[in-house]
Amino acid sequence: MSDLRDLYQEVILDHTKRPRNFGSLGSATHRATGRNPLCGDQLVLMLDIKDGVVRDAHFAGKGCAISTASASLLTEAVKGKTTAEAHALFELFHDAVTAPADAVLDLDSLGKLAALAGVREFPMRVKCASLAWHTLEAALAGASAPVSTE
Ligand code: ZN
Repeated sequence: MSDLRDLYQEVILDHTKRPRNFGSLGSATHRATGRNPLCGDQLVLMLDIKDGVVRDAHFAGKGCAISTASASLLTEAVKGKTTAEAHALFELFHDAVTAPADAVLDLDSLGKLAALAGVREFPMRVKCASLAWHTLEAALAGASAPVSTE
């Protein structure tokens, strides 16, 4: 299990140091902003959606290591997915990070996102990890009000 933990640490560190799809997205059709006041994380999520498919996803903003890694992994995960698949991924991810610490998770379905499932042992970090995902839901719904975890 400790090897798996090391691997997950590496994924998070990698995405924190080199966030993927970071910066504005000129072709964005959907966007939403999210804030986690408890930690100071804030981000803008931009999606380019056409014919029900997320063609591109970018994020911008600033936040802690976990929120940055989560947003970076999210943009990779939703690219090429239908909006329904992106929503299903939100539910899968949300269930994983809010599950009891001893719950058995479907890590295969989570893919790389499984790296963040360990935050469920740290309630304060759950909001950091979930922020980008709640913002994704808002962007998919076309909501205009900013998302706040509080
Ligand atoms: Zn945070």
